[in-house]
Amino acid sequence: MFNPNRINFPTNYSFILERINAIDPIKYAKTRNYINGDITYLAPFISRGMISVKQVLDAILNKGYPLKVTEKLIQELAWREYYQRIWQSKNNMIWDDLKQIQPNFNQRDMPAALQKAETGIEIIDNEIKSLYNLGYLHNHLRMYIASIACNIGKAHWLQPSKWMYYHLLDGDIASNNCSWQWVAGSFSNKKYYCNQENLNKYTFSKQKATFLDMSYEDLVNIPIPLPLQETVNLQLSTNLPLTKIPIIDITIPTLLYNSYNLDPQWRNNELVNRVLLLEPSHFKNYPVSDKVIQFIIELSNNIKGIQVFTGEVENIKELYAQIESTDKETIISKEHPAFNHYPGRKDPREWMFPEVADYYPSFFSYWKKCECILNRF
Ligand SMILES: Cc1cc2nc3c(=O)[nH]c(=O)nc-3n(C[C@H](O)[C@H](O)[C@H](O)COP(=O)(O)OP(=O)(O)OC[C@H]3O[C@@H](n4cnc5c(N)ncnc54)[C@H](O)[C@@H]3O)c2cc1C
Repeated sequence: MFNPNRINFPTNYSFILERINAIDPIKYAKTRNYINGDITYLAPFISRGMISVKQVLDAILNKGYPLKVTEKLIQELAWREYYQRIWQSKNNMIWDDLKQIQPNFNQRDMPAALQKAETGIEIIDNEIKSLYNLGYLHNHLRMYIASIACNIGKAHWLQPSKWMYYHLLDGDIASNNCSWQWVAGSFSNKKYYCNQENLNKYTFSKQKATFLDMSYEDLVNIPIPLPLQETVNLQLSTNLPLTKIPIIDITIPTLLYNSYNLDPQWRNNELVNRVLLLEPSHFKNYPVSDKVIQFIIELSNNIKGIQVFTGEVENIKELYAQIESTDKETIISKEHPAFNHYPGRKDPREWMFPEVADYYPSFFSYWKKCECILNRF
């Protein structure tokens, strides 16, 4: 039986490298859809920019597995890059329905039963409680929950997606918004449905007689079940730590780290100031839980000499104001669509497929290009 207690997310860098080393792509491909599957549990570290998908890809390829057996895992990693490319090309449009207005939605609030973990579907309620405690959900559970919210409860995807993002240690706007839209049918041709039989199969649950316990044919036509009729308008906010203004040596550059870039290897031999910048303006747009903030700060402890600063990038710029100009090299960050407003130099992120950078309307048109490159490795 699946035991969620065995899932953990320690923040020490060497532990994370061990986790990469322990990946078994063969078991992964066979079991990944099951709640107890041999999945990597790397998303919190990838999303936070502590490791890159390229680093994971290289580790798998260096082990000499034939491409055929690693393909499923590489394809999953490619989903992340695909969604990041969508964010890069669509920018703020990622907050709108991407391909078409979500079909058949009734309202824009969140079904209260999901927030309260009281849907009456035992595995869903237990996993939502586990999300609150652990900050993680298996991919299938995310799909089930999104489907219950948007397709059975007929809520628009935006508010429930913000609720999930708030609690996920691996919260990533690109993967989250696009996946919710994929399930809800605004970024796919068809809504995703799950019935109780499917849920029971992949979660080893045995429950019967729930509002999902019927054939797909019937499920797509049911009115909103009673447990999902109450809705709530969520007000999410972030508690940021109170910090001092960082001590900056203005004769050398400052590297800006943030909730999506916590890479301890980045320019690690250079003489620079290193600041983890927690901008209130960012977290107003992208609220996260106390648990997520604590996780981000703990991950940043792997970066030598880092100073945590709650403030705006303008405050860092002002520290350099006494020297001639904030030139291109005084503030350095990594390129990321959530931080386009940073001044200064932007280093590229590490991509698995840097050549496949355009917008592709479907994952499989994108993946076709990636596959050609992969076959050359
Ligand atoms: C509604 C919904 C919301 C989601 N929100 C997020 C989110 O906020 N942040 C996030 O990182 N992922 C999100 N995902 C994608 C996926 O569920 C998680 O990346 C995955 O479950 C993380 O667990 P893992 O690292 O053990 O994954 P594994 O199965 O071990 O996969 C390995 C890596 O591949 C990537 N990956 C796997 N599946 C997906 C996918 N469907 N989409 C994108 N990348 C994938 C991740 O980087 C993951 O770490 C969401 C999926 C759904 C359906």
